[in-house]
Amino acid sequence: MSVTLSPLHITCDFDSGNIVVRDASEPSQVRLAIRPDTRSDHFQWFHFKASGLTPGHTHRFTLENAGQSSYNQAWDGYQAVASYDQQHWFRVPTQFDGQALHFQLEAGEQQAWFAYFEPYSRARHNQLIERAVSLPGVELLATGRSVEGRDIPLLRAGDGAAGKRKLWIIAQQHPGEHMAEWFMEGVIDRLQANDATVQALLKVADLYLIPNMNPDGAFHGHLRTNAQGKDLNRAWQDASVEHSPEVFFAQQQMKLQGVDLFLDIHGDEEIPHVFTAGSEGTPGYTPRIEQLESAFRERLCRLTADFQQVHGYPRDKPGQANLTLACNSVAQAYGCLALTLEMPFKDHDDAPNAITGWSGQRSKALASAVLDTLAPMVGDLR
Ligand code: ZN
Repeated sequence: MSVTLSPLHITCDFDSGNIVVRDASEPSQVRLAIRPDTRSDHFQWFHFKASGLTPGHTHRFTLENAGQSSYNQAWDGYQAVASYDQQHWFRVPTQFDGQALHFQLEAGEQQAWFAYFEPYSRARHNQLIERAVSLPGVELLATGRSVEGRDIPLLRAGDGAAGKRKLWIIAQQHPGEHMAEWFMEGVIDRLQANDATVQALLKVADLYLIPNMNPDGAFHGHLRTNAQGKDLNRAWQDASVEHSPEVFFAQQQMKLQGVDLFLDIHGDEEIPHVFTAGSEGTPGYTPRIEQLESAFRERLCRLTADFQQVHGYPRDKPGQANLTLACNSVAQAYGCLALTLEMPFKDHDDAPNAITGWSGQRSKALASAVLDTLAPMVGDLR
């Protein structure tokens, strides 16, 4: 018996949506493409809703331009995520043929969302900021503005008293790396729990948090750039109000407050592991910073199976660091421990989860382990 299915309705007209419909007339095999970032050739992030699915039927989707995306190694071993309720996301069977990415869903409902990774919405961001500033000891210290005028809240946890260490954590400079704001939610959750470790940490240190550095890019479904087509994590030597006000704001606030530790939270498209990159190529790198990096990594490794030190980026040669990166720029300017923390789009292969892969929940749990890692180190940071 053959059944004629009606065409699907595909839409991405919402926060962080990104898809181009090439042909949705055949509901079993929908042809799609990813739209590049504004004023940029980068693309990889996708996020769309499919309506009119037939429960029990397998619907197939093809991203026909995946092979030309920013990181075409990223699709090997990758599985797309789907959700029926935008709350619970799961991996779906996915193959890359060298040109196009194919994934499929045996529909359990009449509509589903698909994305590159579990999206962190602007609505959730707004709720996170509201919740954070309602906590005792947490304040909205300053608000930056993106190119398109979206708020960039800077939160401070702690009283800002003289002599306290200043620990900075910023996230999602690369707007498609939604795991980065999930990580920040994990930081806020832990502040809310206000357990003995958090209390001890906040006695000697203040946390300066920018949960989303690139709200325009996130909203528009970009992978890499802001609304001016600027890669913010290549803008730390020439930030300007016109082209990269997001970085300009963060740098101004750092100058005002000082920095004793800097963590820049990211996602990596290709490497299926959580890892950090340090500032070993900066001119100001010292044995003391090297020891702090090692101490951080070793402690975090002991605290969670969701971190490792074997896989990561090649190390910079001495003096060869790219100072346009936030981590290197801040390390050099403040002589402090500075790390880029990378979480995978795929999975952390040291402790894989076949249902979710790497996820928002795991990003949050990692943040909690990072705070446990930092707490006993604070005295050594300066
Ligand atoms: Zn990144």
